[in-house]
Amino acid sequence: MENLIEKVALFIHESPKVVVFTGAGVSTESGIPDFRSPDGIWARYDPEDFTIQRFVSDREARKRNWRLRKEMFSADYRPNPAHYAIAELERIGKLSCVITQNIDGLHHVAGNSEEKIVELHGTVKNAKCLSCDDRLPLGEVLKRIDQGEEDPHCEKCGGLLKAATVSFGEAMPPAEMRRAEQCSRECDLFIVVGSSLVVYPAAGMPLVAKRSGARLVIINYTSTDMDAIADAVIHNKAGAVMEAILEKVKERAI
Ligand code: NAD
Repeated sequence: MENLIEKVALFIHESPKVVVFTGAGVSTESGIPDFRSPDGIWARYDPEDFTIQRFVSDREARKRNWRLRKEMFSADYRPNPAHYAIAELERIGKLSCVITQNIDGLHHVAGNSEEKIVELHGTVKNAKCLSCDDRLPLGEVLKRIDQGEEDPHCEKCGGLLKAATVSFGEAMPPAEMRRAEQCSRECDLFIVVGSSLVVYPAAGMPLVAKRSGARLVIINYTSTDMDAIADAVIHNKAGAVMEAILEKVKERAI
């Protein structure tokens, strides 16, 4: 593994434009479960319940959806060494952007600046009305649920409230998709951290980067279908690996 860490640090050293692409696996060491690990969310919830069509048509599915939101995001989660290493990449001037599938906001908390973060699947910081698109802090909606509302609706227009995240079957945010594609096309190095790379269209970004001539690095606990086309693959925990890589990058810069 030492050699691989050295290799990725060298890639970063040689690359003016680095894109980091994160998935749920970058946040498991912060205590937030991912979807597809054996102890992940899909071991306890049915993914079919989390389509936008089900959310809109089925009150019971909405209640389960809110229960999952509370379960996943009520604690005060903190960034872990992987998030801090990605923030450090920005500080040393290497990061062109961090494209994240995550909705937990931990890249912001770790210190990446707003303009460097592309949240492809939205954020749990806010809730949105599916009718008038009004936005409000998710905490306000969770408080209403705590006070007994099971299926909260918009106080302005009566529409359905939902976390401001992209559910299965829901359209991707166009501006974020454009930015993610542009960053992926223009980078020299694309580093995947903690993603199974099965959720499209987000998982298409490493392919865009690779086809445009960038090197591809995958840091993920388990193997992915894209390992075969990567220039380096590290099957280990993101926190220790990213921290070690950044240490090497900084040694080289001295
Ligand atoms: P996923 O659950 O499909 O895959 C996570 C991957 O991370 C797995 O392959 C697993 O082996 C790996 N992993 C787990 N812990 C790791 C660690 N400590 N170090 C390295 N790798 C680790 O997640 P995905 O690819 O992001 O795609 C699914 C969807 O999950 C995304 O759309 C995202 O919105 C959503 N999601 C987000 C959060 C979050 O915001 N924290 C949590 C759960 C799910």
